[in-house]
Amino acid sequence: MNHAIRVHEYGGPEKMVWEEVPLPSPKPGEALVRHKAVGLNYIDVYFRTGLYKAPSLPATIGMEASGIVEAVGEGVTNVAPGDRVAYATAPIGAYAEARTIKADRLVKVPEAIGFDQAAAMMLQGMTAGFLLTRTFKVQPGQTILVHAAAGGVGLIMTQWAKHLGATVIGSVSTEEKAELAKAHGADHVVVGIESLPARVKEITGGAMLPVVYDSVGRDTFTTSLDCLAPYGMMVSYGNASGPVTTDIGILAAKGSLYLTRPTLATYTSKREDLEAHAAALFDVVAKGAVKIRVNQSFALKDAADAHRALEARKTTGSTVLLP
Ligand code: NDP
Repeated sequence: MNHAIRVHEYGGPEKMVWEEVPLPSPKPGEALVRHKAVGLNYIDVYFRTGLYKAPSLPATIGMEASGIVEAVGEGVTNVAPGDRVAYATAPIGAYAEARTIKADRLVKVPEAIGFDQAAAMMLQGMTAGFLLTRTFKVQPGQTILVHAAAGGVGLIMTQWAKHLGATVIGSVSTEEKAELAKAHGADHVVVGIESLPARVKEITGGAMLPVVYDSVGRDTFTTSLDCLAPYGMMVSYGNASGPVTTDIGILAAKGSLYLTRPTLATYTSKREDLEAHAAALFDVVAKGAVKIRVNQSFALKDAADAHRALEARKTTGSTVLLP
């Protein structure tokens, strides 16, 4: 039998139930993947609380996993049984021992990358990649702000931005996280957000920033705008503290700013984009420019404990759940 973590009603971590679920045979175009590791991501919290809605309930949550292809349906040519694969851009359903999935959402994992590392890096790593190279193309010499710089996306983004030649200002909530972000290349780290605009002014000699990458949302939105130069780009890509509900008039008041709310789903919806972003990530990891820090692991059946740690801001880097 197949086990999965399912949500029968939205709510706290206690709403996640470890139970037996059927495992269908792969339909045409699908593959059956036996998971070796499942990636923990903040979006899993949104699907558990109901901030983001599952297609129906009960729902198996989770966006990302690595594993081995066990069977394929008719017409599948990009993967075969026995292949080591990972995914991060399929519909929810990753918190399971095994699942069926559209085969065109799978990428093959290079031999040098282990299953834990693969499950930890695909979603957060491709996100860091598209944000830095497509949403706003960071140029060498530019100074950028990365919120939650010691977190999953944050730690990868910090290293990747350094690799691109940027100066990175990180924001974090504790001294320990500040040390971690610095150890991964952040040039300046600010603890707390109150002093951020003043620190940015000091660091940039008054010029302020061309771009801010904000994953925190409600609590940091206005402060982030205050760190931008006129015409600067506010990249609001997450809601860890809650969604942003501000009147867009604020963009005029703060200097004719640009605002985007991007998502990995759009940037990888075409197969060629998914392949390009996965290849770019594998490349920076293979070069050693980006190190994937799997700093926590939990049994998949204890996913509730992992959610508690993530929401209490107790995790750093990436986290995996082991079936
Ligand atoms: P993180 O590892 O970054 O964990 C979240 C971090 O956010 C915390 O560690 C904490 O860092 C910070 N934070 C600030 N305020 C709060 C709060 N009130 N509650 C909880 N955490 C808070 O998670 P991920 O790397 O998985 O995701 C980071 C963000 O990126 C999320 O918002 C996620 O939704 C978003 N994301 C968006 C994607 C997209 O396509 N748009 C794709 C992937 C992720 P600190 O203590 O240092 O402040």
